[in-house]
Amino acid sequence: MPTYYESTRNNERKISSKQAILEGISKGGGLYVRPDLDQIQLDLNTICRQSYKENALYILSRLLPDYTEAELKECIDAAYTDNFDTPEITPLRKVGDIYVCELFHGPTSAFKDVALTLLPQLMRVALRSAGQKALILTATSGDTGKAALEGFRDVDDIGIVVYYPHQKVSQIQYRQMATQRGSNVKVYAVKGNFDDAQSQVKRLFLDPELNQKAQAEKIMLTSANSINIGRLVPQIVYYFESYKQLVKQNVITVGDPISFSVPTGNFGDVLAGYYGYLMGLPVKKFYVASNANHVLTDFLTTGTYDRNRPFIQTISPSMDILISSNLERLLYYMSGKDNAFVASCMEQLKTEGKYTIPQAMLERIRERFDCGYVDDEGTKAVIREVYEKDGVVLDPHTAIGYRVAEKADRPVVSLATASPYKFSVDVLDAIGKKADDQLQAMNELHKVWSDPVPKGLAELPTLPILHKDVIEVNEMKQSVENAMETLFHD
Ligand SMILES: *Cc1c(COP(=O)(O)O)cnc(C)c1O
Repeated sequence: MPTYYESTRNNERKISSKQAILEGISKGGGLYVRPDLDQIQLDLNTICRQSYKENALYILSRLLPDYTEAELKECIDAAYTDNFDTPEITPLRKVGDIYVCELFHGPTSAFKDVALTLLPQLMRVALRSAGQKALILTATSGDTGKAALEGFRDVDDIGIVVYYPHQKVSQIQYRQMATQRGSNVKVYAVKGNFDDAQSQVKRLFLDPELNQKAQAEKIMLTSANSINIGRLVPQIVYYFESYKQLVKQNVITVGDPISFSVPTGNFGDVLAGYYGYLMGLPVKKFYVASNANHVLTDFLTTGTYDRNRPFIQTISPSMDILISSNLERLLYYMSGKDNAFVASCMEQLKTEGKYTIPQAMLERIRERFDCGYVDDEGTKAVIREVYEKDGVVLDPHTAIGYRVAEKADRPVVSLATASPYKFSVDVLDAIGKKADDQLQAMNELHKVWSDPVPKGLAELPTLPILHKDVIEVNEMKQSVENAMETLFHD
């Protein structure tokens, strides 16, 4: 097998894609990457001829070569079923002169479904090869948690524990997680913000005592966060799909460059687009769109990443992030795969909360990436404008990407990352209507927006609350120990 994965911070250990998917993050804290990514070149004419699932198979088989084609096909068929409410999986909708790629047609109405329906299948197959079980630990700022719970629930030999920041997710996100069914799932509210929970999860993966316990039980501790390479790879597909749809609609011909605007938090989504670019997708620019936590806008403008700033709670909570973990992978490729450089940046981030990249590297990044940010008032203004002008309702995350897309050359695809129904109260507020209760607000929104309320959201008011635990950050370790004892014995 000619290809392998290595850590962004250390290239001594080479592992297969199955192993990388099972481990999630490397023992040294680095993220797994394929050094030879730019040597994989996909054929655009083939892409344009094929269906979504065929393209998923085409892309995955090149990135995950130690899976057989039969295994990948089995995974893709299990992931993309009628749990997506459209056969196109990620349809394109023209809004004004911007093409909006809707990534929210999966079971939890947010874009993370696209990857989190497929990752559990990739893991199940890899576990089968390794003769292991897995316990998934996931910190979520809101949407990942539910999408992971849905993707992993009742999958054989896998348990999942999800941590979300107590009282810092929307009422709907809360209900989605607290009502989660499944014999192998556990959900905790953690006192603190998302970064607190995520940092603790990262520490727990490196905790020697926990790892020893897990090993004794043949359980792998692993993540479903967007640092897992198995999360990134499925996201590459819809960048090519958007391209295909623009070709089909005669907006472009094969070979023409397009731009993408991506509402960004952890930098996973936009990085997947960059992977697509490295693999031959003609992209002029990626627009990294942020909210008031605009640490990435500042980084892409100045070359200094500085997380020392107040954490701001916004109406786009899935982008309320001060440490964009996947940026580490971009640093790896942009530094010419310099593991020591990445390790030193990440060490500085840990100890001082900031690092600065060389000017020449910033310039290289700026050739492909532009950026912008929108605060809450600006976000509401976009929602209102687009509703009044084009008759389309955007969710707050999508609205931020849309605003930043406006400054791009055309054609530009702006990624829509959540259904507006998930954020009905703020969306209604933006278009001048009032609703206090989020669950009721979905029905209110449906009075002015013709798209149906997604099934998984419509049923939320009637589902029983099954998960009520609120814990401190320092109680998370105990919760993992409990999960190891309870989730695998029924
Ligand atoms: C997760 C999420 C984002 C940010 O995506 P990243 O991959 O973390 O950059 C944006 N919008 C929504 C609705 C999300 O759930």
